[in-house]
Amino acid sequence: VRFARLRGPDGATTFARLERGMAFRLEVAPWMLPGAPAGGLGDSGASGSFSTSPATAHPYRESDFACPVRPSKIVCIGRNYVAHAKELGHDVPVEPLLFLKPPSSLIGPSESIVLPLASARVEHEAELGVVIGRRARNVSREDALSHVFGYTCVCDVTARDLQKKDGQWTRAKGMDTFCPVGPFIETDFDLRSASIRCRVNGEVRQDGSTANMIFDVPMLIAYVSGVMTLEPGDLLLTGTPEGVGPLLPGDKLEIEIVSAQGESLGILRERVVATTG
Ligand code: ZN
Repeated sequence: VRFARLRGPDGATTFARLERGMAFRLEVAPWMLPGAPAGGLGDSGASGSFSTSPATAHPYRESDFACPVRPSKIVCIGRNYVAHAKELGHDVPVEPLLFLKPPSSLIGPSESIVLPLASARVEHEAELGVVIGRRARNVSREDALSHVFGYTCVCDVTARDLQKKDGQWTRAKGMDTFCPVGPFIETDFDLRSASIRCRVNGEVRQDGSTANMIFDVPMLIAYVSGVMTLEPGDLLLTGTPEGVGPLLPGDKLEIEIVSAQGESLGILRERVVATTG
């Protein structure tokens, strides 16, 4: 089942369930609804729980999509692919490397990544995003996916020069517009061996597979939940495959994630602009 946040015909932005080209408006975030599908792999039968009256349905266009998540926090994993750790000259971590991005860094599809004056080297990191559906605190690896609501495309935009200069990553990863997400959340998605692609101006920069994660998604959720409570709606970024590279003013960024079965999480499209002040 696909969920998004959309600007409706009346100009209001609301959560909606997407079905056959129509958006069915929801009163609350989809992960707050009773019977919300948490479980990651499978259980498409839950869609019946989301029936809404036809009067609240409207057609939509790609330009209507807003950021599909409203997390209390964005938890990120650094260096979760061997080839990416090596391209930056780092050793492979022996346990997950955690950092946070602030919710103020979020933008939706078709918005603009703003390059700050403070950095001369801003890079793309295409990542699988995991949206939490059920509160997770000290969950086991085996139980972890039952706390997942769904999956989406994310770019962990990073000021690489500031990341090296600062010694910690708050500024490098936390600037406004540095967390594009979308276009929608898919609740039924096989995250094993999904391809993660990043194109800039049509050129393929990153072409990785979730099969090459050092720590897989269940392990990451279990690990993070032992550090901090994951709330419904929270967003987990699972690390980027190799091929990170610079973003320049005027660039068109596309991130696309497709499962081994050919199910797509859609294409997250953003423009890159220089700061105006
Ligand atoms: Zn990253």
